[in-house]
Amino acid sequence: EKAELAKLVNEKSVSADGHQVELAANIGTPDDLEGVLHNGAEAVGLYRTEFLYMGRTELPTEEEQFESYKKVLEGMEGKAVVVRTLDIGGDKNLPYLDLPEEMNPFLGFRAIRLCLEQQDIFRTQLRALLRASAYGNLKIMFPMIATLDEFREAKQILEQEKQKLVSEGISVAEHIETGIMVEIPSTAVMADLFAKEVDFFSIGTNDLIQYTMAADRMNERVSYLYQPYSPAILRLVKMVIDAAHKEGKWAGMCGEMAGDELAIPLLLGLGLDEFSMSATSILRARAQIAKLSKQEMENLAKEAIQMSNTADVLEAMKKINQ
Ligand code: PEP
Ligand code: MG
Repeated sequence: EKAELAKLVNEKSVSADGHQVELAANIGTPDDLEGVLHNGAEAVGLYRTEFLYMGRTELPTEEEQFESYKKVLEGMEGKAVVVRTLDIGGDKNLPYLDLPEEMNPFLGFRAIRLCLEQQDIFRTQLRALLRASAYGNLKIMFPMIATLDEFREAKQILEQEKQKLVSEGISVAEHIETGIMVEIPSTAVMADLFAKEVDFFSIGTNDLIQYTMAADRMNERVSYLYQPYSPAILRLVKMVIDAAHKEGKWAGMCGEMAGDELAIPLLLGLGLDEFSMSATSILRARAQIAKLSKQEMENLAKEAIQMSNTADVLEAMKKINQ
C-alpha cells in the first residue's frame, strides 16, 4: 500500500469527477521541509512561526527570522508558503516577554492582539517576511483575527514596512497575498465582509471548535462538546467557504480537521479549496480524494448541514468511508 501511495507524490489532487483541490502541509521549522517534499505537498499551508521564538531567552532578530523564512521559501521552489505571523499566548507562552498572568489565557492577550500592541515585535517579523518574499511564493496570514479593524490595521502595518523597505532599495515581492485564519466565530459570521478585503481564508478548526462550543481544546471533561462534526461547526465552515467563493477568493483549512479521513469527504463537498495537514497524511488524503465524487459529496454535505447532532453526521461519514 505504501508503494501505491508513493506513486502519487508528483500527482495533482483530483476527485473522481475531476474537481481539483490543493493538499498542503503544516510545518513548524525549516527542518520539516524534507518531509513536506517527500510526501508530495503542493504547498505549505501553515508555517507556525512560534518555534522561532520559543526555547530561548530573547526575541529572534530580523536576520535570524529572515534566514528561516528564506530557507523555507527557497526549499519550496516556487510553491506557495503560507506563513502565519506570531501566534503566542494561550497555551504558548514566552517567558522573556514578561506578560502578566491572565485568568483566561485562551481568551486573553494573544496572537494578533499582542502584535498590534507590541508593534516592534510585529514589525520585525514583517520586515523579515517581506525581505524573504523575494525568494519564493510567500503568502502572509494573521492569526486570531476577531474583527475587520484588526485585519485592516495589520495590513496597514505590513504596507508601511513594505514601503520602508522599498525606499531603502531592498527587493520585496510585488504582490504578496494576505489572508487570515478563521478561528474565532465572530470572523466566520462576518466572512462575507472579510472576503471583500482578504486574499484568502484558512479555517483554524482547532481553535474555531473550542471558541464556538465554549469547550477548552485540552479539557477531557468537555471533549464530548469539542466535535468537528458538530453541525454548528459545519455551518460555520460552509459560511466561510461560500463567502470566499462569492468574492473569487480561496478558502483553506489548517486545523486538524483538514487531514481527518472522516472529515475529508464532507470538506470536499463543502467546496474547500486547500487542505493543510501534517505532511505524513497527504498521500493518503490524495488517494482518498481520487475515489470520491465531488458531486456526491456536495449532496452529502447538504444533508449533514441539516442534521441536528454530531452523532448523525458521524454515522453518515462512517458510511462513506466503509
Ligand atoms: C487552529 O487553531 O486550527 C490552528 C491551526 O492553529 P493552532 O493549532 O496553532 O492554534
Ligand atoms: Mg489556532
